[in-house]
Amino acid sequence: MCYKHKGFVIFVNLVIIISILTGCSEAENTDTASQSQTQTLPISENYFIFDTVVSVRVYDERIEKSHFDYIESIMEQIDETMNRFKEESEVAKVNRLAGEEAVQVTEETYHIIKTAKEYALRSEGRFEPTIGPLVDLWAIGNGGSEVPPIAEIDAAKQLIDFNKLELNDDSLTVKLQQKGMTLDLGAIAKGYAADVIASYLQEQGFTSAIIDLGGNILAMGSKPDKSPWRIGIQSPDENRGEHLGTISVVNKTIVTSGVYERYFIYDNKQYHHIIDPFTGYPAANELASATIITEKSMHADAMSTTVFLLGLEEGMAFVESTENTEAIFVTNDHKVYVTSGLKDNFKLTRQEYELVE
Ligand code: AMP
Ligand code: MG
Repeated sequence: MCYKHKGFVIFVNLVIIISILTGCSEAENTDTASQSQTQTLPISENYFIFDTVVSVRVYDERIEKSHFDYIESIMEQIDETMNRFKEESEVAKVNRLAGEEAVQVTEETYHIIKTAKEYALRSEGRFEPTIGPLVDLWAIGNGGSEVPPIAEIDAAKQLIDFNKLELNDDSLTVKLQQKGMTLDLGAIAKGYAADVIASYLQEQGFTSAIIDLGGNILAMGSKPDKSPWRIGIQSPDENRGEHLGTISVVNKTIVTSGVYERYFIYDNKQYHHIIDPFTGYPAANELASATIITEKSMHADAMSTTVFLLGLEEGMAFVESTENTEAIFVTNDHKVYVTSGLKDNFKLTRQEYELVE
């Protein structure tokens, strides 16, 4: 078997450089009286959760440490419930009882699983919430460094089918019909977390903030001077933080799925973390990344993964048929395509890329 060749792993999910072009410098979140009078905005806090760096930047001097602590507890609670690698989580329980019993989950978890299944239906199974066995086999970003044997890929594929993910709206129960099936909410849960953080900040009276979960951005409201946020779009083949263009937004989320997020190189070939359930291999089409711009981050997250899997043509059609949603597609040959609603908004900033009109 040639997969014995040495491979090496590059895991690039830890480093995140701010891609927001606000023109403001970051301030330390400090509660000493003398400094609070001279605090510059935004006031920010960073967290490490969901396997990534999360940064919440609030443009309002009324934000306090207790708010940031509460935001941390929101994220921890979502992680404790939906992270399938946490033994006590609801998703882990559904997975453990696959082929045996239906599991009652909280309304919140049910809603996310149901939304994930809707994206599976809409994409005819490209977006696949039961992708777990293949994700585990490839283990990209999680120790994997070699292409798995074809027999193991084929065996894992047998355990993947969203039609066997049984949902009951009345009892809020979830059942995987076959033993070994594994639900994986990795493509949607972070987006949901951003929405919950934004709702909390809004409830607390904050109107201007940037919530950044490993490069997935939720730009709340507008900048404090009421002008739109200018958001940098990550360039798929550069270091994190390098952007290839910008868009201006008010109250939108901008979420990207791309080949650069987690991957390993094996025999000079790059294998990334979004798996095509039909082939059992990382999705291989013309796309290097797909970015969704819309209102709810949960939808942006699910949709960026979906359209990345669908490829340029189908992905473009998918977004054009979805209300209040725009997209930016970047191909492996450095072409950039934007949906109709972004034509006057997107500004290309890197000469290495070509904007296709
Ligand atoms: P994202 O970075 O949001 O595009 O999501 C990628 C994550 O979603 C991976 O790390 C897996 O946990 C999971 N995933 C991989 N392939 C798929 C797929 N075909 N459908 C749904 N989720 C997937
Ligand atoms: Mg996603």
